[in-house]
Amino acid sequence: MRTWRSELKRLLLMLAIAAGVGFVFGELLLTLFLSLLLYTGLNLYQLQRLNLWLTKVPTLNQSDPPESFGIWGEIFDGIYRLQNQERKSSAYLEGIINRAQESSAALEIGVIMINKKGNLDWWNLACEKLLGLQYPKDRNQSVTNLIRDPRFADYFHHEKYADTLKIKAPGDNNRMLEFQIALFGEHERLMIVRDITQLHRLESMRKDFVGNVSHELGTPITVIKGYLEAIVDNMQDLDEKWQNPMRQMRAQSIRMENIVRDLLTLASLETEASAKQQDQINVLELVTEIENDTQQIFADKSHKFEIQCAADLVFKGQRSEIYSALSNLIMNAAKYTPAHGTITVSTRKTKRSLEITVADTGVGIEAKHLPRLTERFYRVDSSRSADTGGTGLGLAIVKHILSRHEGELLIESEFGKGSRFTCRLPRSRLLKIQTDNIAATRPAMATTQIGVN
Ligand code: ADP
Repeated sequence: MRTWRSELKRLLLMLAIAAGVGFVFGELLLTLFLSLLLYTGLNLYQLQRLNLWLTKVPTLNQSDPPESFGIWGEIFDGIYRLQNQERKSSAYLEGIINRAQESSAALEIGVIMINKKGNLDWWNLACEKLLGLQYPKDRNQSVTNLIRDPRFADYFHHEKYADTLKIKAPGDNNRMLEFQIALFGEHERLMIVRDITQLHRLESMRKDFVGNVSHELGTPITVIKGYLEAIVDNMQDLDEKWQNPMRQMRAQSIRMENIVRDLLTLASLETEASAKQQDQINVLELVTEIENDTQQIFADKSHKFEIQCAADLVFKGQRSEIYSALSNLIMNAAKYTPAHGTITVSTRKTKRSLEITVADTGVGIEAKHLPRLTERFYRVDSSRSADTGGTGLGLAIVKHILSRHEGELLIESEFGKGSRFTCRLPRSRLLKIQTDNIAATRPAMATTQIGVN
C-alpha cells in the first residue's frame, strides 16, 4: 500500500513539475503530454523486462529478478518470492515421490494402481518380475488383457475384494500368485500381488500328507475293528477280565475309523476349490432323509423334530456334500440335546440368500468357544465329545462344504439353552421360488416326533 502511495506521489510530482515548466514556457499541454508519454514509456520498459525475465526463468531455473525500484521493484521481488516458495514445495513433493518410488521398488510384493477404466496406471518394480509388466509398453493397457485367467476377470469385475484370489502367474505355471484389490478415489483400484509359491507348496504337502496318512490308516483300522467286533460279538468265549477292555478297544477303533473318514473327507474337499457337480436339491426331501437317519441312531432320546420348509424349495449344489453338511449339523443337534428336547430345521429366504437353520434346545455353547468351533479338532468339552463319538472335525467339514458353495456358516448359542447353526447360501443358487413370503411355506411344514417309544 505504501509503495502504491509513493508511486502515486511520484506521478503527481512529475505532473506538477511538467505543469510548472509548461507554465513558464507557455506550453502547458505539451509538457503534460510529454511527461505522461515518458511515464508510460518507463512502465512499458519495466513490463518488457518482466516479460523477458519470466520467459527465461524455466530455462535458467534460478535467475535473479531484474534490478528495479518502486512498485516495479516490489512486483519483481514478490514474484521472485513466490517462485522460490513454489520451487521449494515442488522439490519437497518430488523428494516424497522419489522416496515412495524407491521404497516401493524395494518391496517384494507387487503394487499396481489401476484407473477407473480398468487400465494400468502405475506399478512398482516387483510387478515386472511377478507379472512380466514392462514400462512404458504396458501403461494404459487393460489389466484383464494382461492377466487372462477367467477367474481373475471374475474377481476383478465382481468386486468381492474382502477375499483374495490365488491363481498361477501369467506365463509361469510353476509360480502361484495371490491377488488382493482395494478400491480408492473415484473407483480406482490398488492391487497387491504376492508370490505364494512356497506357501502353496507347503500347503499342498500338508494336504497330501493328511490325505495319504488317512488313506494308509484306513485298511489297518478296518481290520482291527473287524476282529474286535468279532471278539465282542462272541464275548461269552472270553475271560471276564478282558471283556471290558475289548469293549473299550472296539469303541476306540470305531472312533479312529470315524476320524480317518472325516480326515479323508476334508482332504478331498480341500483339493477342489468349488463343488463340481451341480445337482437340483430339494431341501425338504434332503432334510427328511437326514431326519430319518438321525431318528434311527438317536431313537432312545425321543427328540421332537420340527421341519419348517417349503416342499418346492430347490437349489443348485453338490447333493452328497450338502447332505454331509446338514447331516453333521442335525446329528450334532441330536448328540448335544438331551432326551425329549426339540430340534428344528427351518428355511428362510432373504434378498440375497437362502438360509437353512438347525436349532436345538440342547446344552448350548459358551460364547468364548463360538469363534473357534469350526477349527479342526476343536472341542468345547473333549470328554463329552468323545462320549458322543465325535471327531472334532464335523463343523470344519460343514464350513468347507459351504464355502465351496459360496456360502457361510453362522453359529449362535446360549449356554444351557440351545444352539442355532445357519447355513447361508447365495440366493442365486435357488432354482424354484414360488413365493417370497415365508409364511406361505407354513402349509408344507412338517412336525415330527421321533424316537417316541
Ligand atoms: P464333534 O465331532 O466333536 O461333534 P464338531 O466339529 O461337529 O465335532 O463340533 C465341534 C464342537 O462343537 C463339539 O465338540 C461340541 O462341543 C460343539 N457343538 C457342535 N454342535 C453343537 C450343538 N448343536 N450343541 C452344542 N454343542 C455343539
